[in-house]
Amino acid sequence: MHQNYKVAMAMVRKFGRPDLFVTFTCNLTWVDISNVLEGPQRPEDRPDIVVRVFKMKLNELFDDIIKRNLFGRVISYIYVTEFQKRGLPHAHILLTLDSYSKIRTKDDIDKYVSAELTDPIADPTLFQIITRCMFHGPCGTLNPNSPCMREGMCTKQYPKKTEENVNGYPMYQRKCTEYVRVGRHDLDNRWVIPYNPWLSKKFNAHINVEVCASIKRVKYLYKYMYKGHDAESIRFENENTLDHVEILSFLDGRCVSAPEAMWRLNELSEKSHTVVQVAVHFLFCLSRWTRRGS
Ligand SMILES: [Zn+2]
Repeated sequence: MHQNYKVAMAMVRKFGRPDLFVTFTCNLTWVDISNVLEGPQRPEDRPDIVVRVFKMKLNELFDDIIKRNLFGRVISYIYVTEFQKRGLPHAHILLTLDSYSKIRTKDDIDKYVSAELTDPIADPTLFQIITRCMFHGPCGTLNPNSPCMREGMCTKQYPKKTEENVNGYPMYQRKCTEYVRVGRHDLDNRWVIPYNPWLSKKFNAHINVEVCASIKRVKYLYKYMYKGHDAESIRFENENTLDHVEILSFLDGRCVSAPEAMWRLNELSEKSHTVVQVAVHFLFCLSRWTRRGS
């Protein structure tokens, strides 16, 4: 089992299960990136700028959540930064709130999380951000080859049902609405990925905010967060080699994109608390020493 997974579960034992799961993805169209590109450069030519701007935005997101108490008082958090195959950075963040800030009722959920399109006339900026960043897929009959599809079904259960949320369970409210044009498809509220309107508007990015309902879900999230790095199998071929050993000609390699390399050269992931695993023999020595001292 991954060492970090044990660390995460130690934090659950001490602080209780997390209340919110936030995924924050880098947006290559941010003006902070495009303003500093030179001449014909594209964002993918400058992974150093992409990861630095992402880290800057991530720090600001943490300030909003931890210091400015956007969701209430946070007593512990843990996050990992991942890189998609094409190298776009994104952070998975788990937040545990104090007992006064816990999300308990459907009104609490509605206060922080929305899974509906906003009114394009009342708030055109947010409407544009949501249609650009917060629509799933589409998949299913509209796009059977979507990466989320397994055996003809969406693994993330989209399109969702239109329903009221239920106390304590993250069934986000999705009222029936008119379809809107998103890319090549007409979609409605059933395809909206849950988001926090204030965060989406401030950061103009894909920020998925989900309420954690059960400990089962939390375990899944921790496993998801610590599933490990991408790996590649590489095979070297040399036709002139007579004593060819097939096993030795395979290499189990780690796949690191340019932005991930820049991230690791410049920054490290963080968590709110340090958890140290104490070996059993050390505990024994400690107890003996304490007894002698007393
Ligand atoms: Zn899907």
